[in-house]
Amino acid sequence: MFRDGARKSAWQNEVKWYGTVFSKDREFDAVIIGGGITGISTALKLQQKGLKCLLLEANNIGFGTTGGTTAHLNDFFDTTFSYAIAKFGLEKAQLLAQAGREGLRTVHMNVAEYGIECDYEGKTAELFALGEEQANQLAEIVDGARKIGYEMNYTDSIEYPFHFERAVSIPGQAQFHPVKYITALADIFVANGGALAENCLCSSFNETSEGVVLETGLGEIRAKNAVFATHTPPGISLLHFTCAPYRSYVIAFTLREGTFPTTLGYDLGDPYHYYRVHEIDGKKMIIAGGEDHKTGHSDDTGACFSRLEDHCRKHFPVDQVEYAWSSQYFEPIDGLPSIGVLPSSDGRIYVATGFRGNGMTFGSLSSGILTDLITEGASKYKEIFDPKRFKPNAGFSNLLKENATVLKDLLVDKIWMERVRSLADIGSGQAKVVKHQGNSYAIFAEQNGKLHVLRSTCPHANCEVRWNNAELSWDCPCHGSRFNVNGKILNGPSTTPLEQITDPEL
Ligand SMILES: Cc1cc2nc3c(=O)[nH]c(=O)nc-3n(C[C@H](O)[C@H](O)[C@H](O)COP(=O)(O)OP(=O)(O)OC[C@H]3O[C@@H](n4cnc5c(N)ncnc54)[C@H](O)[C@@H]3O)c2cc1C
Repeated sequence: MFRDGARKSAWQNEVKWYGTVFSKDREFDAVIIGGGITGISTALKLQQKGLKCLLLEANNIGFGTTGGTTAHLNDFFDTTFSYAIAKFGLEKAQLLAQAGREGLRTVHMNVAEYGIECDYEGKTAELFALGEEQANQLAEIVDGARKIGYEMNYTDSIEYPFHFERAVSIPGQAQFHPVKYITALADIFVANGGALAENCLCSSFNETSEGVVLETGLGEIRAKNAVFATHTPPGISLLHFTCAPYRSYVIAFTLREGTFPTTLGYDLGDPYHYYRVHEIDGKKMIIAGGEDHKTGHSDDTGACFSRLEDHCRKHFPVDQVEYAWSSQYFEPIDGLPSIGVLPSSDGRIYVATGFRGNGMTFGSLSSGILTDLITEGASKYKEIFDPKRFKPNAGFSNLLKENATVLKDLLVDKIWMERVRSLADIGSGQAKVVKHQGNSYAIFAEQNGKLHVLRSTCPHANCEVRWNNAELSWDCPCHGSRFNVNGKILNGPSTTPLEQITDPEL
């Protein structure tokens, strides 16, 4: 398994195993934790500035969301410019647009400078409104874009087979193969003397007056600076209350007939659908995504795939569904990412998260911002994306709402578990949380009847995990930690697996 779920993504064939490319060094200028687009781009950029860097990855390069993304490269965002103007003012909305351009330029420059073969293609995006409500929303989006001088043009035709009310085309976007791209960056980083360790979890960290001490699978590592490119960091942080984990679902399918669109496509539903085309191993496919929900908040995650497939079959002459996978992203409460110094840090520990569905751009942008902050102590984006910006009066009601959900999750789970008291009716291929003699267990039965029994309490903040039947994982609804049926960590922030009960007292 090369990603954080049981299903294979369209990109996974390109995953490469690096192992440990590491001398006996235990001291670095910077340790970057997380082998996705954010961590690898940042490690390379810091190395280009002359810093001695170590990149740590708990599993393999591309194991996280970067291996399960759809890799549209956009400089318009899920957080629209009209929303940004209303909430933060015109100047900050313009800075957001500038950040988008810079994120895209970072990828473009890396591809051009290093001659990276990652199926990179410039694209036009089409945003289409299905119905009147979406048309009003689109008018607002266009209005915001115009106010900041961002190009969006109304169009009478789109390449996607939808009856639309109104649509715009947006030039200057792109797409690529995410795993080919990050693998190439990792190759360059290693070839230039960078240290890299896969299968190496960073379990905890401690900031001192001289730097950061990290507990890792390789023992204690010291660094002047640490960057957590792991979404949220290990331990409990303010970020766990300002960013919420969400799942999104993707299918990739061939067509029986007709032509493939050459554009990137998006409707304006809530959640919205997103589309693009990619040729994988000689087969051209439409890659469609959607059906997003908060992690742990769907009773039947498998049904999300069915709904997405039904939707696609209604509109496209679908031939074969070649891939179906889901992955995790983080929604910030104020709509902007957090890129900079970790809220609890004195200035040596950095983080980059809260990218919504725009992590290819924001992850790449983060490499420049974090490098500027670490090497020069300044960045023009320092304030707008400051992870410490959340104050009681800024989006606090949303924060409370998000936490209320977390508390509700805890209560509902406890009540729900009370109801599930018996192991008796667990069928093969099924999973359940079962309460027995005051303890609760997460149980999965394989097709051959073998039981996998775990303690069901997430070690991160003691919430109860829920079954994800689409990816065969136990997902924590509070902060997004995920575990496989053996308790192995698939997603942090937990750095402790779910405890396996090998000799069950059940
Ligand atoms: C289905 C889906 C489609 C998307 N489509 C798009 C899109 O089209 N365009 C776009 O811009 N964005 C998209 N996004 C968002 C984007 O994919 C993500 O924001 C981005 O991939 C995040 O990259 P990352 O490097 O920050 O994190 P990841 O790729 O998740 O990497 C984090 C890595 O950190 C490792 N790790 C975690 N904890 C530890 C630890 N304690 N020690 C060591 N290692 C650790 C993990 O194993 C993981 O490999 C999509 C998201 C989803 C879910």
